[in-house]
Amino acid sequence: RNFLIDAPEGKFLLKVLGAGTSESDLLIQDDALTQLALAGIAAPRPRVGANGSTIQHATMGGSQVRVRLLDFLDGSSLADSTYLAPSVISALGSLSAGVALGLRAVEAPAPDRGLQWDLRRAGDVIVALLGSVRESRREAVDLASRDARARLEPLIGALRTQLIHGDVTDDNVVCRDDEYGRAVPYGVIDFGDLAEGWLVAELAVTVSSLLNRTRSSLASALPAIRAFHEVLPLRDDEVRALWPLVVLRGAVLVVSGEHQVSLEEGNDYASERVEGEWRIFQSATSVNPVVAETMIRDALGMSPLIDPPHDAQLLTAPTAEYPLVAGLGTPQCEILDFSTTSPLLDDGAWLQVDAEWALAREALASHRVALAPYGIPRLTRATVLSDTEPATWPTVTDLYLPADSLVSAPFDAKITSTGPNSITVSATREGDTRVLHIEGIASALRGIVAAGDTMGVALDQHEGIARLRVQNRSASDVAAAPFVVPSDSAVWRALVPNPEPLLGLVPREPVPDAQDEQRRRLAFFPAAQERYYENPPLFERGWREHLIDMRGRVYLDMVNNVAGVGHSDPRLTDAISTQLRLLNTNSRFLYRGLSDLCERLVQHAPSPELDTVLLVNSGTEAVDLAIRLAQLYTGRRLVVSLREAYHGWSMAADAVTTSAYDNPVALASRPDWVHVVESPNVYRGSHREANAGEDYAREFDNEMDALASTGEAIGAFLCEPILGNAGGVLLPEGYLRRVYDSVRARGGVCIADEVQVGYGRLGDYFWGVEQQGVVPDIITIAKAMGNGYPLGAVITRRDIAAALQNEGHFFSSAGGSPVSCAAGIAVLDIMEQDGLQENARVVGGHLATRLRELAGRHPLIGTVHGLGLYLGVELVRDQETREPADTETAAICERLLELGVIMQPTSERQNVLKIKPPLCLTTADADFFVDCLDEVLRDGW
Ligand code: PMP
Repeated sequence: RNFLIDAPEGKFLLKVLGAGTSESDLLIQDDALTQLALAGIAAPRPRVGANGSTIQHATMGGSQVRVRLLDFLDGSSLADSTYLAPSVISALGSLSAGVALGLRAVEAPAPDRGLQWDLRRAGDVIVALLGSVRESRREAVDLASRDARARLEPLIGALRTQLIHGDVTDDNVVCRDDEYGRAVPYGVIDFGDLAEGWLVAELAVTVSSLLNRTRSSLASALPAIRAFHEVLPLRDDEVRALWPLVVLRGAVLVVSGEHQVSLEEGNDYASERVEGEWRIFQSATSVNPVVAETMIRDALGMSPLIDPPHDAQLLTAPTAEYPLVAGLGTPQCEILDFSTTSPLLDDGAWLQVDAEWALAREALASHRVALAPYGIPRLTRATVLSDTEPATWPTVTDLYLPADSLVSAPFDAKITSTGPNSITVSATREGDTRVLHIEGIASALRGIVAAGDTMGVALDQHEGIARLRVQNRSASDVAAAPFVVPSDSAVWRALVPNPEPLLGLVPREPVPDAQDEQRRRLAFFPAAQERYYENPPLFERGWREHLIDMRGRVYLDMVNNVAGVGHSDPRLTDAISTQLRLLNTNSRFLYRGLSDLCERLVQHAPSPELDTVLLVNSGTEAVDLAIRLAQLYTGRRLVVSLREAYHGWSMAADAVTTSAYDNPVALASRPDWVHVVESPNVYRGSHREANAGEDYAREFDNEMDALASTGEAIGAFLCEPILGNAGGVLLPEGYLRRVYDSVRARGGVCIADEVQVGYGRLGDYFWGVEQQGVVPDIITIAKAMGNGYPLGAVITRRDIAAALQNEGHFFSSAGGSPVSCAAGIAVLDIMEQDGLQENARVVGGHLATRLRELAGRHPLIGTVHGLGLYLGVELVRDQETREPADTETAAICERLLELGVIMQPTSERQNVLKIKPPLCLTTADADFFVDCLDEVLRDGW
C-alpha cells in the first residue's frame, strides 16, 4: 500500500512495508539511493524520521506496520506510451547504464537475495515453473531457453557481477515531457529487486521491457543498447551474452507470469500481464540469435562477425574457375536493373505483377542469361501505402536462364546437401570455406564435383524460364531470407556476403547512401537553403502521388502541390521530350505553342476581361511582374499586402513577403513602398466571429484612409485568396469583396496570388478568388501550371498590360519557350482527361471529413483549415489559448516519414500540417494518411 502525501514541503510517497522486506535490504537500498543521488540519477530518496532512521513504526487499522517516507518523483510513466521514439529509447538505455554505474559505488557487499529475477538462476526458475505454462507455449519456452543457456554458458566466466537495480523497465521509470511533447525517462523507482547480479543483466531487463509493443523489435531497441554502451561500455563477452539474456528474461517473465496466474485465479493484474510478457518472449525469439548478435555488434560499431573469414579477398575478388551457367560473365549476360533509378521501371512499370519475370524474359530474347544483382534494393519488391519498411534488399543474386539449362560447379567442391529444388556446395581452400546455396535447381548429385562438372538442371519456374537464386553462406550458417529490409543491410552483408565473386563476377557498387548525399549537399549549399527532414531519404523517383527512395521505399507524398497532376506522368514527359526534340527557342519567335497555351489560360480566367498573358518561369517572377504592372498602371508605388504571407524571393516579391517564419525580421525591414495589414485569419486574428469579414474590411478601410491623409494612395493590394502560407485558412465571408471595392474606389488594382491555391486544387473552384466571389485585376500563377517544369504567368487586363510599354519591351528567355508551353498545355490536358479538379473536390472532401473526425478525438488538433486538396491541420497545445504546438508538429512529421508519409509543417508558427498533395490522390491514399496520423496522435511520436 502506497500513499501520496501532498504537503507544503513537497510531494512524498508513504510506503507501507510488507512483512517480507528485511531491514538489511532496506539499508542497502538507502546506500544505493545515496549513491544514485551522487551520480545525478533521480530516484525516490528515503527521509530520515524522528527516530533517526528511514524506517518508522506506525499503527494502521489496529496493527503495527513499518513505513518509509520517500521523495515522490513526479511525472508520467513510459508504460503509457505505445510508441517510443528512438530518442526516448536511447534515454532509457542511458538511464539504465547510469543506474548500474551509480550502484557500482555502493561499498557494502551486494546481497545475493535468491530472487527469481536474478538471471543467473534463470535456468532453474524456468525448469521449476515450466509446468505452469499452458501447453501451446511450453515447448517454445523450453527450446528457446535451452538454446539461450547454451549460448550463454561459455561466456559466464567473463560476465561482471555487481549490485544492480534489476528492474529498470518502462514500468519503473518516471518521465518528463521534452520539447517535442514526448515523455522521456529521467528517474527510476521501485528498488525492490535491488540485489547482486550480472551487470549486463541490467541492460537485458531494460531491453526486454521495450519489446512489449505492437511495432517493437530488436531493431527498435538498438538505441537503448547503444546509449547504455556509451555510458557504461560493455565487454565483448557481455555484448555476446546480451541477447541470450533478453531471451531468458522473456522466458522467466512468461513462466513466472503463468505460474502466478495458476496460483491466484482471480489476479487480473497477473493475467493481463501474461499477454504482454508473451509478446516480449515472442519478439526476443523472433530473431535468429546469430542475427541478433550481429545486429547488436554492428550497432555498437564492433566488427559484425566474431570470426570473419580470414581471407577478405574471398568476399570481393572473382574466384570461379568455371561459369555456373553458360554465358555468365560474358557479354551474353544481361544485367537486370531492378533499382529505383532503372529505366526499365519507368512509367509505373515497377507496379506490374511479375515485373521481374517479364523483364527477365525480354532480356533472354537476346542474351543467354540475365542477372539481377545482390545488394541492390529492388523497386520491383516495393509496396505502396506501406507503413513499414519493405524487404527490398536482396541477399541473393538471381540468375535467369532458359529452363533445363545445365548448371556447372564453379570450382572443385563438394555438394553438401540437396533439397527438392536446391543444393549447397562448399569448398575449403587455405583454411577458408566457401559455401554457395543455390535454389531453383534439380540435382541428383552428392559428394565431390570438379570445376565444370554438371551439378544439375535449372528448373522451369515461369513459362520456360528458370531462376537460380544464389546465396553466399561462407561467412555464417544463417539461411537468410532472399529479401530483407535495407536498414539491416550492413548486418546481412556480413552474414551473407555477395556471392558474385564466387561466381567469377565483379560485384556492383552499392547504391548511394542518403547520409553521404546529405553531406555532399551541405558542402555546396548555403545554410539559408531550406530543407526537409533531419535525415532525409534519398529520393530519386516519383510516380503519381508517390516519392520513392533509393532503398525502394515508396512514400505517400502529401505536400508536393507543384506536381499537381502527379509525378512523372508519361503524357507530360512525352509532351516535353517530343517538343524538346522538335524545337526549343524563345517567345520572340512565332510558334503555335504560345497561343495554344495562352488561349487555354484565358479560357480558364475568372472573367473575359482578363485576356492578356505574360509568361515567366516562376511564381516569384509572376509576383514581381504583377507588382511592376500595377505600379506602372496606377502611377503609384504603394503596395498593400497581408501579414503571414509568402510571395517569393526576388527583391519585390520578398518585399511583400511578411511571414515571420520565412523572414524573422520581415516587418522591420519592409521597404517604404510596402504597407502591411493584419491577416484576416479567423482562427488566430483579432476577429473570429461570423461578421469577421466585415470587421477586417472596415479596419482595412480605416487604414487606407489614414494612409491617404499622409498623401500615400494605394497602388495595389496583393494577397492569396485563401491564406495558403498560413495553412489554407479560408478568408472570412465577404472580405475580398469589400476590400477589392475599397481598393478600386481609391484607384488601386487588386492582385490575386493564385500560385499555391489556384489551378483546380480547391475542387469546387478553379481559382481561389471564386471562393470569395470576386474578380481580380491581375492573377499570378506558377507551380502546378508546369507540374515542376519552370513555368509561371501573369494574367491581366489588356489596359493594365499596356502600361508595360512605357518601359520598353518585355521578354524572358525561357518564359513561354516552346517546351514550357508544351508542358503547360499537357498539364491542362491531363487535368481535363483525368478530371483532377473534380477528384480534388471528392477526395479532398472525404479527407477533410475524416480529419475533422480526428479533431474530435485528439485535443492536439485545434482545427482543420482549407478546401479541396488544400488543407491544413492546425496543432495546438491548448484549445483555449491556441498555443501553437510547433515542436510537436515537427516531431509528428518526422514520425509520419517513418510510417511512409511525406508531411511538413507550415504557417509562420510552423504548427500546421500542410496538406497539398498531387491532385491524383485517391480515397485509399487519403485513408492511409489519416490512419497514420491517427496512430501517431494516439500512440505518440
Ligand atoms: N506565391 C505564393 C503564394 C507561393 O506560395 C510561392 C512559393 N511558395 C510563390 C509565390 C513563389 O513561387 P516560386 O517558388 O515559383 O518562385
